[in-house]
Amino acid sequence: MGARVKTYEIAVVHGDGIGPEVCQAAIDVLKATSVSNSLKFVEYPAGANHYLKAGTAFPDETFEGCKRSDAILHGAAGLPGVTYPDGTETGIEFGLQLRFRLDLYANVRPIKLRPGVTSRLRDRKPGDIDYVILRENTEGLYAARGNGVNLRDEVAVDSLVVTRKGIERICRTAFELARKRNGAPGDGKKRVTVCDKANVLRTYAFFRRVFNEVAEQNPDIEADYAYADAMTVYLLERPEYYDVIVMENMFGDIMSDLAAATVGSMGMSPSSELGDSHGFFQAAHGSAPTIAGQNIANPYGTILSAASMLQWLGERHADERLLSAANQMENGVDAAMATSNGLTRDLGGTATTTDVTRMVIDRLSSTARHAAE
Ligand code: ATP
Repeated sequence: MGARVKTYEIAVVHGDGIGPEVCQAAIDVLKATSVSNSLKFVEYPAGANHYLKAGTAFPDETFEGCKRSDAILHGAAGLPGVTYPDGTETGIEFGLQLRFRLDLYANVRPIKLRPGVTSRLRDRKPGDIDYVILRENTEGLYAARGNGVNLRDEVAVDSLVVTRKGIERICRTAFELARKRNGAPGDGKKRVTVCDKANVLRTYAFFRRVFNEVAEQNPDIEADYAYADAMTVYLLERPEYYDVIVMENMFGDIMSDLAAATVGSMGMSPSSELGDSHGFFQAAHGSAPTIAGQNIANPYGTILSAASMLQWLGERHADERLLSAANQMENGVDAAMATSNGLTRDLGGTATTTDVTRMVIDRLSSTARHAAE
């Protein structure tokens, strides 16, 4: 009798705006991989539309379902006009709460210039830009969400909170990640850069001090430093210098949007939010409501996030089949992008969401056939 093949339960939250379109694209590609029979998709509601319908953006059953699952796959959530009385958005409650409640402290955002994509940065070719922004995901300024103070509509305060534990674990993750990578494209050096404002605020000075303590325990990897304002220039002037960049929550949010624009578009940047026992996967972009329902959203970021999900599950469960399917997906994406009609509108092409999905699926089978030959 053969060994039973494990089935992985994937909690799926489609969300709002283009969320359902890009999420469906990723599911269609996952279902076409060599491990489709090992994946069980269970859908749960959350987001701004659900808030309008049911009065909550993040139902308890959705949280319990996500917590029970082996991994969580998400499109995007949030609609600008759908807010709480304090003016903050309801839909993003899902992603934010999930991070805090499942302690998903490491937000991994790879920034890679892929074949077929023209960078807005002059003369940069695929291979020249390949770094990871590692965003601390559970503390920093965003930990104040819902806890800030608004006094008489005259004074409002949000606090930036960092802890030794939080800084240590994100910095350790940064060095572990750099050790697994091939170094910065410019000089091949394995390097971790801390991006902060240690010159201005005590919280960031503390972040840098703890970063230095972790760096001392990892002498094989170069420790590097940049202030956040200077970093917005460096990422445009010398992206090839970077390998892994670690930063506080809000800086990571802002810097990764800027970085995504240097490798094509927000639409193609994947994101993984990882804790010690849960993983949450969605593209780095938001719900882009102005282009929703038109079949023009770029699904590459969500498809690549789904590939990262297989990679994470494969490493976690020592399941080679998932690792090879993750590879199959990433190769399928690169092959689709490199074709003459493989780019969506945001990347200067004319392919629709469903065109891209079909192209990736077709190229999955050709990469799989190729591997089997
Ligand atoms: P959030 O704060 O929820 O992350 P955001 O305010 O950063 O959202 P997005 O929804 O990410 O905003 O949209 C930013 C811009 O990028 C918009 O012009 C949007 O149309 C475009 N965009 C985002 N995602 C995609 C995508 N997948 N395909 C094409 N364009 C996209």
